[in-house]
Amino acid sequence: DDRISRITSAIRVIPDFPKPGILFQDITTLLLDPVAFKDTIDLFVERYKDKEISVVAGVEARGFIFGPPIALAIGAKFVPMRKPNKLPGAVISEEYSLEYGTDKMEMHVGAVQEGERALVIDDLIATGGTLRAAISLLERVKANVVECACVIELPELKGRERLGGKPLFVLVS
Ligand code: IMP
Repeated sequence: DDRISRITSAIRVIPDFPKPGILFQDITTLLLDPVAFKDTIDLFVERYKDKEISVVAGVEARGFIFGPPIALAIGAKFVPMRKPNKLPGAVISEEYSLEYGTDKMEMHVGAVQEGERALVIDDLIATGGTLRAAISLLERVKANVVECACVIELPELKGRERLGGKPLFVLVS
């Protein structure tokens, strides 16, 4: 698919960010290329348009870039999965581990109903901890997580195996 090669070429890799030894995959250059950005959204929309998804849950911050256009195109709601203390209403929250220490993810109470079919979206999966936390929040309100989707997977970190059996769809590995 030449769309995948265009997307791959539009992603910039920045060495030693945010710290020495890390090769940071930067999707902001993908956003500068309207053809590649549209290809990205189209590929996800083609995959999810007939899957009766009613919730697209986007993980802060870059899941907020890719999630809403997908949600609008497939006729689903968009639900932000936020860093702690950002959402103004009542929340449920899930702690998850990072390389050093822990973080928390929060979702508004009442945003997702029992039995809804959800897609979780983020820019990148590394260890899978972030997507795992999003899955847990959705499952706590008894939603059905149909799939997780990312633009980029770092397969050597085996994050896919931490998703509790949920399928993962990625464009670039
Ligand atoms: P995980 O929880 O280890 O899978 O890390 C995934 C989270 O970290 C996602 O929210 C990503 O946005 C972020 N992340 C980790 N590495 C990168 C990178 O190289 N580029 C962009 N985001 C990254």
